[in-house]
Amino acid sequence: MDALVSLSKRRGFIFQSSEIYGGAGSCWDYGPLGVELKQNIKRVWWRDYVQRRPDMMGLDASILMHPTVWKASGHVDNFTDPMVDCLECRRRFRADKVDETPWVHYCPATKGNKFTISAGEPCSHCGVTRTLCPECGKGELTPPRQFNLMFKTFMGPVEEDASLTYLRPETAQGIFVNFDNVLQSMRRKLPFGIAQIGKAFRNEITPGNFIFRTREFEQMEIEFFVNPLETVDGRPADEYWHDRWIEDSMAWFRRYGLSEENLRLREHAADELAHYAKRTADIEYHFPIGWSELMGIANRTDFDLKQHAKFSGKALTYFDEERKEHVVPYVIEPSAGVDRALLAFLADAYREEEVRGEKRVVLRLHPELAPLKVAVLPLLKKRDDIVRTAHAIRDELSKDWSVVYDDTAAIGRLYRRQDEVGTPYCVTVDVQTVGDQAKGEVGDGKVTIRDRDSMEQIRVPLDSLGSVFRELLGGSAWASMAGRFERKGDGTGA
Ligand code: ATP
Repeated sequence: MDALVSLSKRRGFIFQSSEIYGGAGSCWDYGPLGVELKQNIKRVWWRDYVQRRPDMMGLDASILMHPTVWKASGHVDNFTDPMVDCLECRRRFRADKVDETPWVHYCPATKGNKFTISAGEPCSHCGVTRTLCPECGKGELTPPRQFNLMFKTFMGPVEEDASLTYLRPETAQGIFVNFDNVLQSMRRKLPFGIAQIGKAFRNEITPGNFIFRTREFEQMEIEFFVNPLETVDGRPADEYWHDRWIEDSMAWFRRYGLSEENLRLREHAADELAHYAKRTADIEYHFPIGWSELMGIANRTDFDLKQHAKFSGKALTYFDEERKEHVVPYVIEPSAGVDRALLAFLADAYREEEVRGEKRVVLRLHPELAPLKVAVLPLLKKRDDIVRTAHAIRDELSKDWSVVYDDTAAIGRLYRRQDEVGTPYCVTVDVQTVGDQAKGEVGDGKVTIRDRDSMEQIRVPLDSLGSVFRELLGGSAWASMAGRFERKGDGTGA
């Protein structure tokens, strides 16, 4: 995790919010490369789930909503976490997570020596498990109290109870309250889904672990509405679709680079299920902090639509033409955090390798997610014709992709810099490309493309660059492309 935090800061992915003022706790800002990576995650998600599926539509609801929404949804009464306080140092912890961090222990068996013991483990000297504050190791913890995670705010100029509302703690409710608007305006038949990407806010008791748990974050959520009277393959439609969404979501994370062994599914036990859920499965990822939730996929039944119908007095039903009756759809909710997904993609892509006795840090990001697709590098920055050609290539390629020009170091160093931020391809322009007028040599009009992962290089004619990148960035394998062009160098990308 430390390597990721440091790389993120050094290379413009993620900065501590308000850093010049000492930082705002658990708030992070996405820098020039981080914002590209985040946009790419959201863009491919939207493309795969909204643009490409005939049964899905998008929505962008407001963050501030009518306060009754949160009464109806159950958030005012139930969106709480159990909180404990240390009576000595006054720190606060989430009661159900307090044993998930290393704990400080003054061991009586070693004359009160101070140890920091791994999460959940007993002391190897005296054998006790943690009972006191894990941070100071001295204070008793209070019994758990429920703490509501919603941020309160006021709408309008008067700060009074009547104008109290909340920053949304999830994007889902914006979809439920618009169910009928979408149904009426878009004339869809069940099953169909509504997708939304947007900010959510939770006043987490113990945020932390970089962007894993923050108080302001982004969600990518889908509410997929199904007809509970229908069956698919002999099973109730909601159960069938729940399984489809679990498979689909797992496949999506794998497609964009998360390794099989770092992903697993965890079913919620009956006593852990949210009050509205018939079944929930979490996709967990093996983060640097251990296995933790990346995404939840819940069967929320007809709970939300029924609650909003009850509180608003509006019917939120679907007319089943075949059966000639009104039904309240069931809903399957695949809900992922954008920031958590970004952390997982970064963690999975990060590699430290050794090349010719030197350390190479490389982010093996999927090309569709990589913040920069191509870097154009002139081999000699003193040669005007080389620099001009390199700029022209950048200008041309940047019509379609995010492309940078860089001439601020020697080529080996420039390659390493691009490896470190995950740029899948570099293009170098050299004397061979443009020729040497003084010596009466004409250029061959070819440039070198270097592949980040294999570090192989090929010579490609300038006028083929656009089509080559269209194929490579469209998903063609490097190996098949490399076979069609002349190879260069010894394959170590020097
Ligand atoms: P957790 O148990 O980690 O608090 P949750 O079960 O409350 O998470 P959900 O309500 O299911 O989370 O939210 C859906 C997704 O939103 C999560 O899987 C996660 O990716 C993301 N998410 C939730 N809370 C946060 C947060 N505080 N910071 C960043 N992402 C979050």
